[in-house]
Amino acid sequence: MLSQSEFDALPKVRMGRRELLAGLAAGTVFPFAATGCTAENPALGRRQLMLVSDDQIAQLSDQTWQAARQRERVSNDPALRRQADRVGSRIANASGMSQHAWEFVVFDSDEVNAWVLPNGKVGLYRGLMETTRNDDQLATVIGHEAGHVAGRHAQERASQQMAAGMATGLAAVALDQADVQNAGAWAGVLGAGLTFGVLLPYSRRHELEADRLGVDYMARANYRPSESVIFWQSMMDQSQRGAPPAFLSTHPSDQERMNALNSHIRSRGYA
Ligand SMILES: [Zn+2]
Repeated sequence: MLSQSEFDALPKVRMGRRELLAGLAAGTVFPFAATGCTAENPALGRRQLMLVSDDQIAQLSDQTWQAARQRERVSNDPALRRQADRVGSRIANASGMSQHAWEFVVFDSDEVNAWVLPNGKVGLYRGLMETTRNDDQLATVIGHEAGHVAGRHAQERASQQMAAGMATGLAAVALDQADVQNAGAWAGVLGAGLTFGVLLPYSRRHELEADRLGVDYMARANYRPSESVIFWQSMMDQSQRGAPPAFLSTHPSDQERMNALNSHIRSRGYA
């Protein structure tokens, strides 16, 4: 991973697009893309490209969270708020991610949606909470979202976008500009990484990983993992009735994913 000072230094390199592409091809430019910039993620058991620091992502997450809380109407419904806190805190504890100040906020909207930011802030829409039939199904949603945090999926997508930007010349443009403009360009790329799961769909790989971690957290928190199958099936059914929930557009589901979820539940011996 880049240190903050290395990251700050990046835009100061002066190089034309042609030189940059040649350097990338020869492996002389951005050696971090090939060497020390992957990190082992113990929750996933695989290495990830990681070009952004926890500090950078935390800062952007905080800004995004403040903006969301101003944009959406926060619900005052005491029952919904209690349920979000009750289920959310049990899943957060079971996930072992005590480094985050977890927060579970209910937005007063019919939208069937939920999302998470890498800093452990979870937005739950009333429409989604009303769709869940019990705490186990809400634990499915929160467990899955916590799985995306443990999987560092937003950071991975931002890193992949940065690498792709470098390859396609976005970096060359950024690198040739003044520092101030570059700061904005990089923040834009990082911010785009954060929009995965909020506005843009997660990849299939990320979905499968979040499913597995999510049901593991459910089981550890004494929720019934079998309810996750019922919940996702109901989301897919709603979709087939012509009213696709917003939640499914960012967390795409299909029969293949359901099969993987079922086989994980069986292999762990969960009920
Ligand atoms: Zn997901």
